[in-house]
Amino acid sequence: MTENQAPWYQRTYRWGQTNITEIDPIRYDIPWWREHWRRTRVQGVVINAGGIVAYYPSKLQQHRAHFLGERDLYGELVQAAREDGLAVLARMDCNRTYEPLYNDHPEWYTRDAEGRPYREGELFVTCINSPYYDWFIPAVIREIIERSHPDGLTDNSWSGMDRRRICFCANCERKFREATGQRLPRAADWNNPVYRQWIVWNYARRVEVFDLFNRVSAEAGGPDCLYLAMMSGNVLHQSARFRDCRALFSRSKMLMLDHQSRTNPLGFTSNAEAGKLIHGIMGWDKVMPESIAHYQGGVPTFRLGSKPAWEARMWAVEGFAAGITPWWHHIGAYHEDRRQYKTAEPIFRWHEANERYLLNRTPVATVGIVWSQTNVDFYGRDAAEERVAQPWQGAVQAMIRQRVQYVPVHADDIPEAPVDVPVLLLPNLAAMSDTQCSAIRRYVEAGGSIVATGETSLYDEWGDRRPDFALADVFGVHATGTHHGQTSAGDPSWEVFPRHSYLRLTPELRAGVYGPKTGDEPEPVGKRHPILRGLDEADVIGFGGRLEVVYAGAETEVLATFVPPFPIYPPETSWMRQPRTTLPAIVAREAHQGGRVAYLAADLDRCYGRDYQPDHGDIVANAVRWAARDDLPVEIEGRGYLDCHLYRQDERLILHIVNLTNPAAWRAPISELIPVGPIVVTVPARFAGGLSRASLLVAGADVEATRQEGGLRVVIPSVELHEVVVLE
Ligand SMILES: [Zn+2]
Repeated sequence: MTENQAPWYQRTYRWGQTNITEIDPIRYDIPWWREHWRRTRVQGVVINAGGIVAYYPSKLQQHRAHFLGERDLYGELVQAAREDGLAVLARMDCNRTYEPLYNDHPEWYTRDAEGRPYREGELFVTCINSPYYDWFIPAVIREIIERSHPDGLTDNSWSGMDRRRICFCANCERKFREATGQRLPRAADWNNPVYRQWIVWNYARRVEVFDLFNRVSAEAGGPDCLYLAMMSGNVLHQSARFRDCRALFSRSKMLMLDHQSRTNPLGFTSNAEAGKLIHGIMGWDKVMPESIAHYQGGVPTFRLGSKPAWEARMWAVEGFAAGITPWWHHIGAYHEDRRQYKTAEPIFRWHEANERYLLNRTPVATVGIVWSQTNVDFYGRDAAEERVAQPWQGAVQAMIRQRVQYVPVHADDIPEAPVDVPVLLLPNLAAMSDTQCSAIRRYVEAGGSIVATGETSLYDEWGDRRPDFALADVFGVHATGTHHGQTSAGDPSWEVFPRHSYLRLTPELRAGVYGPKTGDEPEPVGKRHPILRGLDEADVIGFGGRLEVVYAGAETEVLATFVPPFPIYPPETSWMRQPRTTLPAIVAREAHQGGRVAYLAADLDRCYGRDYQPDHGDIVANAVRWAARDDLPVEIEGRGYLDCHLYRQDERLILHIVNLTNPAAWRAPISELIPVGPIVVTVPARFAGGLSRASLLVAGADVEATRQEGGLRVVIPSVELHEVVVLE
């Protein structure tokens, strides 16, 4: 099939969206925006149609935009886009309405336990179990399709009320009883089996609505008319909205990614992480445009202000590094701060010129970092941020720090053998089903290596604690049911010291290290394990996290032990009361089948995600390197904070290097770039094969690729925003 014969959703990469406000019908300069579509090389546009606010004269009871009158602004824009050869998505928004519809159909709305409607400001929140979703929205979809024949529809808040509140409307009461035989739970209680059923029931309903809206769209508009539910790539956000990532991403022929900008705790790298996670479920042949806020989103938000251009562009190129395509997004059709109109053009043009290298490729990775939504919900519960997200984030950042290639792997998609990824990293993947644990066991039996941390496999899929790790046999350790330390952020006061703990590394080497002596330093025996590489001058390192207390089996090697907390202040008190314990913090073993296993009882992944101490990240990354026998597909040397992603496309290798070296890397927004270089890229012969030529897609130049003992070597003189190296 040639590209032009492929359906629109496989060939429309670049999008634009002027998110229309209610005043825009009297000031929308359509000719100017058409020129902007051309300049920014978009192939499709998202145009507000209906839902909360209608931008066309609907026969249904939708609230018409305040200044719409009898005008069909939506229809005029569709016509203009069609004349310009663009794909069109009609934008919907269907989670709340104005009061008139509520007055006519009060049974369509969410209710609290006293029967009062849930409201957001002056709007009333619709219930996903009501005919509003089964009948009214399908009628709106049909009306939009019949009037204007868009290629599809997209909706940014399609999945009903979020998880913070329980709807007690008659529809929910009836449907929940029919599904489960139970009354609705009165309050959130993760230990209540009925609440757990309510969670599962809510997830299932969103999948049902997704399927219903797609069925209606296809009936009215033909098989290629898609209802594209916007989603986030942040699993915690998806959970808060009952969106089952695996079920919904795998159903998506294209995904309109509503993940508009970074948050300070997660940084830019969360965009590539999200892209990889979603492509891992959807497939790498699918198109995933991402809404990039050109207004100043986040804290503070200025809907009409221009986001500093580098902030938006850096977010975009982090997306390119994971197969995300760009979609500019302005709020309103008229801005007096016009700097935002210049942001998109250079990166959209670059994307157009290089698109053949940016899509339809597969990641080359050393480690699969395993995740599941079950772990977020039933183990993370109301503390998913620290229980699940921080260990995950620490694991990802540890890989980025040492430029180890990673891919997210869903716990239901554990590979049978270590063919594509030789190592799996389980960052506190506590809630695991027996089936998932069996898959891990098979992977190890096939020669795969594992790095696991904290409470991994210590809970079942409902978040109920098991007496021992389900994977105790794999880890070579057993749980005792106790722990030291805590998962929460520490009290900044020096008057308390529960996080003033350390890890003692073995063997102890300080007798041979520059420093004062007492004479009773241990005689150094043996060498440090590679997991402790780089720490030879330290016999203890700061810890400050949570230690799962375990027994280590005879075949494991204990690399570090726990030193309990002692006072911080006043300084005279700050000496170790108990300098050593036998409590294992890091253990490693060679599995019988040839794989390697490291288990970190100390939650160094979470610590790194929370505290950013380099030792913690290095140990996690060292563990993965050791587990992979240092057989990495690429080594990238050179100073700077770089996020690097490697892909294979046909016979070529493609390496993205995003330069995040910047004082604003962890504090938005970036307002200038700091170039780095030279960067030396080495691809070992085993991975480089017959590749011999290197070109740089951003610099627009070929560079020398030299064959030497370590493999194929390329030197990139300088990287400003990003670089993409193509090896052929
Ligand atoms: Zn309800």
